[in-house]
This record gives sequence, C-alpha cells and structure tokens, in this order.
Amino acid sequence: MSVALFTLGGTIAMAGTGVGGVVSRLTGADLTAAVPGLAAIPLDVRDVEAVPSAALTYPQILDLVDAAGAAVADGATGVVVTQGTDTLEETAYLADLVWPHPAPLVLTGAMRNPTLAGPDGPANLLAAARVAAAPAARDLGVLVAFNDEIHAARFVRKTHSTSTATFASPNAGPLGHVIEGEVRLLTRPPRHAPLPPPDADRLTATRVALHTVTLDDDPAVLDLLARDRDGLVVAGFGVGHVPPAFAPVLEAVAARMPVVLTSRTGAGSVLRHTYGAVGSETDLRRRGLIWGGLLDPYKAKVLLRLLLAAGAGRAEIVDAFARHG
Ligand code: ASP
Repeated sequence: MSVALFTLGGTIAMAGTGVGGVVSRLTGADLTAAVPGLAAIPLDVRDVEAVPSAALTYPQILDLVDAAGAAVADGATGVVVTQGTDTLEETAYLADLVWPHPAPLVLTGAMRNPTLAGPDGPANLLAAARVAAAPAARDLGVLVAFNDEIHAARFVRKTHSTSTATFASPNAGPLGHVIEGEVRLLTRPPRHAPLPPPDADRLTATRVALHTVTLDDDPAVLDLLARDRDGLVVAGFGVGHVPPAFAPVLEAVAARMPVVLTSRTGAGSVLRHTYGAVGSETDLRRRGLIWGGLLDPYKAKVLLRLLLAAGAGRAEIVDAFARHG
C-alpha cells in the first residue's frame, strides 16, 4: 500500500517571507514532516506547483489527473493532492469529471497556514492520506477530505472564507467521516461515466462566461460578456429567474451558444416548469436556456467548458446537464 502525494501550493504550504504575508513555498517533504502519524502510510511525494490556487488552470489540473493516473497504474493505492482551498471545489469537480480509475483521488488543503496557531493542514493531510489508502474509498471518484469529513467532488462547496469547517455539501451532506483514524463511509452515490479528457489546445481556446444576476441588473452586460465566448452560465435568482428585460437578451445569446441556467442561492435545484412569468425558469427554457439542475454555477461552468472543448453539440450538452445536474 502506498499513496502518491502531489503538491500544488495553497495555504497548507504557505510560510512567511518577511515582506508582506505568507506565500506558497513549503515542499511535500516539509508538509509530511509536520504530520504526526503520517509515517504509517508510505507516501510517494511529488511537488508540482507552489502557487495560490487562484493561479491554477484547467490544463494544469488535467495534467495532474494524467500524472495521478500514472501513479495508480504504477501501483499507488490512491492519490492525495494538496492545493489552495479557493478553487478546490472547481479543480475537484474538473478532475472528477474525467477521473476513470477506481482508486480514490483525494484533495485537501488548509484554512490556517503553518505560521498560525492551530494550523489545520497537518490534520487534513493525514485524513486525506487515510482516505486515499482506504479500500472503502474506492469507486467513489474524486473526494475532498477536510476537517475530518469526506465529501464527493460533485457536491462539495467552499462555504466560508476563513472557517476550518469551510467545506460542505449543501445538497447531499458528507459521504463520510474520518473517526479515530478510521475511514467511515455513510453513503456511496453512484458515479457518472467519466468524460473523455479534451485536447489541451481546444480546452485553452474554449471560453465560457458566467454572469450572476442581481436586483435591477443591466442586461447590456450580457452582450459584452458573451462576445467571443463559446458558452454562458447564468446564475439566476432562486429557482432560476432573471429580470424580465434579461429574457429576450438571453434568448438571443442562446441562439448563438449554449446558455446554462443555474441558481445563485448556493443549494437546491433550478426548476423546470413551475413559474410562468417573463424571466422565469419556464420562460427561459422556452427561450432555449439549458437546465443546470443541482449544479452550482461554478460546477456548471466546468462541465460546460469540458463539453464544448470536446466538441459536444447542443443535444449532447442538454443531455449531459440532464445527467450531471
Ligand atoms: N488563497 C489560498 C489559496 O487558495 C487559500 C487557501 O489555500 O486556503 O491558495
């Protein structure tokens, strides 16, 4: 049994420079040395990046998925990735959409950097390694281990800017917990078949915009936002509503590119056919918007970009959101 550990930076790996705040600079060896009990799990450590997670890109994550897959093919029981928490819900979902292996790929990080009292990185790293090594975690795809909770990548959200309990799955709850060092899975959601990883150049060239509607919003922004884009995600009010003046503008954009309707609320699904006003979910679907279901706007953006980069047409995109949403 061995676990491959890939490090990408983030708060878990941050330390001071003396010139204005902490930056990512600790290596995997530094991180593992700080964790009591981790020596019981053989680790193969690979430092990939040392960046804040705002700097990560889709191609980097897909390269990481390839490297993680190679580690599994070479015999690793599972994989741990450490990175910043800010984009972790998106990187985890991106990886999950294409991860084809039964072995777990487990992401973690920290909210308190190692220079603070009570840094959470060591405990999170230990929990993630335990999950990655656990037979019970196989066939669950990409997971997030944080604060001794285990979350599915497709459900997890960063819900707080500073709390060590920031990761939650508002629609589903955690899949399980790490209790006294033991991995306890409470539920096993069925996996979706992995999507084919897109060509890196096509992925880089594929642009998807996201707009969150707000009270008394200006629809003119949509034309600017959608210009030279391949797709648009709209984070609507509540169950998928927009101001009435947005409806014809969105209809025109939806005639040119896929536009996916999601909710800005943070939990729950957009509806299909309950409300009938102009700008309601029923109206927007009639105007060609695609139902995003339970996917939050950020995950919808990840899925839409992958689909477009793989050359999916409208029917395939509608079908994929029906399955993944
Ligand atoms: N800004 C940091 C990052 O995402 C936050 C963190 O790691 O928690 O890299």
